Amino acid sequence: MKKRILITGGAGFLGSHLCKRLLEQGNEVICVDNFFTGNKQNIIELLDNPYFELIRHDVTFPLYVEVDEIYNLACPASPVHYQFDPVQTTKTSVIGAINMLGLAKRIKAKILQASTSEIYGDPEVHPQPENYKGAVSTIGPRACYDEGKRCAETLFFDYKRQHDVNIKVARIFNTYGPNMHPDDGRVISNFIVQALKGEDITIFGQGNQTRSFCYVDDLIDGLIKLMNKENFTGPVNLGNPYEFTMLQLAQKVIELTNSNSQLVFKELPQDDPKQRQPDITLAQKELNFNPTIQLEEGLIKTINYFKNRLKG
Ligand code: NAD
Ligand code: UDP
Ligand code: UDP
Repeated sequence: MKKRILITGGAGFLGSHLCKRLLEQGNEVICVDNFFTGNKQNIIELLDNPYFELIRHDVTFPLYVEVDEIYNLACPASPVHYQFDPVQTTKTSVIGAINMLGLAKRIKAKILQASTSEIYGDPEVHPQPENYKGAVSTIGPRACYDEGKRCAETLFFDYKRQHDVNIKVARIFNTYGPNMHPDDGRVISNFIVQALKGEDITIFGQGNQTRSFCYVDDLIDGLIKLMNKENFTGPVNLGNPYEFTMLQLAQKVIELTNSNSQLVFKELPQDDPKQRQPDITLAQKELNFNPTIQLEEGLIKTINYFKNRLKG
């Protein structure tokens, strides 16, 4: 059955893939974005589709539309961008969540929140299961994002308890792929763009910190499975559990791009998590979520995307 689906942050990296996939599955998609970090290029191929609608709108203001499902992705995700205007970042997460939950309540729509592994902060438990409560600074430079996302989760569960809204909460771990902006600032796009341009590769700290990287197609599968799974709210971790140090990542990118770039070491940003790896047991059990695209294959696809993008 054709559903009408709202995607906030739909012109961003993840949102643009989600718009495309949900249209391909035969749905109508309304994409809402204020273009802070997203851009039209990401969704330009969808603009001719009569079942796709684009609304320029900031989710910190009320929105009145009629839909069956809402994916709430609006929020800058790269530390560089979410720290540019930290007050706006908290407003986007908190007021944005209130508005979208108010909308979901009024129209009785299902609503999914794009939460994050950042709610675990700089974790002392490794890998991170959903019942780990996290170690987050309330006052550091990452807090606008981490605490905003934590409060959004609270709002989702309170709208469920208080107003019986049908909610879903996905805790997304580091995801990468085509449609990341060359200036996004996150590590995979930085390393690839630097390698392709022959510029120095900027390792923050000693490069011993770890992340676990999920290719975008796998992550989108997980989000849609979560939305479609009845009687399951999450929170559920979505990501690829293979863990790498930033040094290993840099070496892999240099190898796959055949680049002459050199590694340079920069200061480690404050509160940068030392390690991160999702425990995806719950997602495997409840959603049959099993990422299939491993780092090398995903990097090759992403490198090809940036090669084309940097040409144009
Ligand atoms: P992104 O920055 O590419 O996309 C975010 C989109 O939200 C952009 O199009 C931006 O313009 C839009 N936006 C920002 N503030 C807005 C506002 N007030 N009103 C309307 N639109 C607004 O980032 P992404 O990687 O696509 O992330 C999408 C969502 O997934 C975010 O909520 C992010 O926190 C979450 N997430 C992503 C990752 C990841 O690794 N990609 C990890 C954890 C969580
Ligand atoms: N809201 C919205 N669209 C709707 C319904 C509500 O944007 O279709 C916003 C509304 O502006 C409100 C927020 O969602 O501020 C929370 O709505 P709720 O009904 O929960 O609370 P209240 O209206 O009582 O503040
Ligand atoms: N990082 C790095 N060089 C860069 C950008 C990031 O070494 O040019 C590091 C960063 O310090 C962090 C890891 O890579 O330890 C992942 O950073 P990203 O901003 O991608 O995501 P997050 O820290 O939010 O997981």
